[in-house]
Amino acid sequence: MTIRTRFAPSPTGYLHVGGARTALYSWLYARKHGGKFILRIEDTDLERSTPESVNAILEGMAWLGLEYDEGPFYQTHRFDRYNEAIERLLEKGLAYRCDCSKERLEKLREEQMAKKLKPRYDGRCRCREVDPGKPHVVRFRNPDEGTVVFQDLVRGTIRVRNAELDDLIIRRSDGSPTYNLTVVVDDADMGITHVIRGDDHINNTPRQINLLRALDLPVPQYAHLPMILGDDGSRLSKRHGAVSVMQYMHDGFLPEALLNYLVRLGWSHGDQEIFSLDEMVELFDLSEVNRSPSTFNREKLLWLNQHYMKESDPAHVARLLSPHMGELGIDPAQGPDLVRVVEAQRERAQTLVELARISAFYYRDFERYEEKAAKRALKPAAVEPLRAVRDRLSALESWRREEIHAAIEATVKELDVGFGKVGMPLRVAVTGGAPSPDLDLTLELVGREATLRRIDRAIEQIGQQA
Ligand code: GLU
Repeated sequence: MTIRTRFAPSPTGYLHVGGARTALYSWLYARKHGGKFILRIEDTDLERSTPESVNAILEGMAWLGLEYDEGPFYQTHRFDRYNEAIERLLEKGLAYRCDCSKERLEKLREEQMAKKLKPRYDGRCRCREVDPGKPHVVRFRNPDEGTVVFQDLVRGTIRVRNAELDDLIIRRSDGSPTYNLTVVVDDADMGITHVIRGDDHINNTPRQINLLRALDLPVPQYAHLPMILGDDGSRLSKRHGAVSVMQYMHDGFLPEALLNYLVRLGWSHGDQEIFSLDEMVELFDLSEVNRSPSTFNREKLLWLNQHYMKESDPAHVARLLSPHMGELGIDPAQGPDLVRVVEAQRERAQTLVELARISAFYYRDFERYEEKAAKRALKPAAVEPLRAVRDRLSALESWRREEIHAAIEATVKELDVGFGKVGMPLRVAVTGGAPSPDLDLTLELVGREATLRRIDRAIEQIGQQA
C-alpha cells in the first residue's frame, strides 16, 4: 500500500507555525514511507477564504521546501462531487432534509441547557417528508446505537458513543456542503491513508468515520497532533509574538532552522536536537509524537538559527542573506564577495537580519560611530597611530590580508606601542564599531579606498572633538 498523506489548510489567514508543523509531519511521514503528500485547500467558507491567504500558504510551504506531489486541490471546484455524495446518502435514507426553524432549534437548545443536557438536534425531521423545493438543510442520520472506536496513532484507542453524536448538518440551506462532509469525500477520493492533523479536530473524527461508513468508503488511519502553547500556557497565538511562517523569513530565520525547531515541537528522538532534513525523514515516526502539548520557545529557535547560520554552506547562507542586504538598500554585487563576508561575520549574529545589519559597513560608509566604541577608541592620542598606519596602508602594493597585517605590525613597532593602540582606533575607524573579525581580514574586505577614506574621517572626527 502506498502511504498518502495530506495537508488541508483553510485559507483564512497566513500559514502559521502550528499549520506548518502539521504539514511537516505529514510530509515527513509520506517521504519516510516512499508515499505521496497532497495539498488540499479547504476554501468552502466563501466569506473567510481569500486568494491572498492561498498565496501566503503556498509561499510559506515553498519557503520551507515542503513540496507536495499532488494538488493543490480546491474544494470550491468539487461541489458536484460533494452533492453526489449527499444525494447518495439521501437515497439510502442515511441523510434527511430538515426544515426546523432557527427559533425551534434555539428553543430546543434552551430547554436542553435548562435540563443540564448536552444541546443536540432531537431528530424531529428524521421521519418527516420535507419539500425539497422549500428552504432546508440536509442532516446526516447518525447511528443511534454503538460506539465508534479508532486507533489514533498518537493518542491510542479512542471511543465515542454514538448516543453522544448529533445528526450533523452536511448541506447548508444555501446548498453548500459542510466541513465534515467535504473532508471525508476528499480523503476518500484522494486515497488518503493517514490523516495527520491538529487535535482540535479530534471531536470531528468519530463523525467523519460514521460518514465514511455510510458512504461505503475506506476509513483512513488518524494521528492527532498535540497543541502548541505560548510561554504563558495558553494556545499559541499572535499575542505571543510572530506565528506566521513568512514572518520568520522576514525576521531572518533560515528555513532549515524553523523546520528543525518544528520537528522537535512535539516529537523527539532521544535527546538529539539537530536534525538535517534527511535525518528527519529517516528517524521521524508518529509513534514518538508526544501526547501532551508543547510550548513554543523563541530562544531555542534562535539558538537553532544561529547553529544553522554557522554550520551551513556559506554560499547558501549568502543567498538567503542577500535579500536582507537589499532591505538595507545594499546591493551585495557592488562590494566584497558576500560569501566571504558571511564566513567572516556569521558567528556574530543570531539572525540574517542581524547579520545584514552588522555587515553593512563592508558595502557602504556607516552613518555614525557606535557611541561607546568611539568614545573609547577615537581619542586625541589615536591621531598619530591612525596617521602612521594610513601611510603604510596607502603604500601597500597589493591589498591582501597578509600585507595589511604586516603594515599594522610595522606601525606598532615603529611607534613602540601595544597592538591595541593602533588596532583599536583603526577598527573603530573602519567598522564604526560593528562586530568584526580579524582586523586584517576586515580591512581586506572593506577595500583600500574605503579604508583610507574612513581613517581620514576618524582623524577629522577626533579633531572636531578637541
Ligand atoms: N481545514 C482544516 C483546518 O484548517 C483541517 C482539516 C483536516 O485536516 O481535516 O483546520
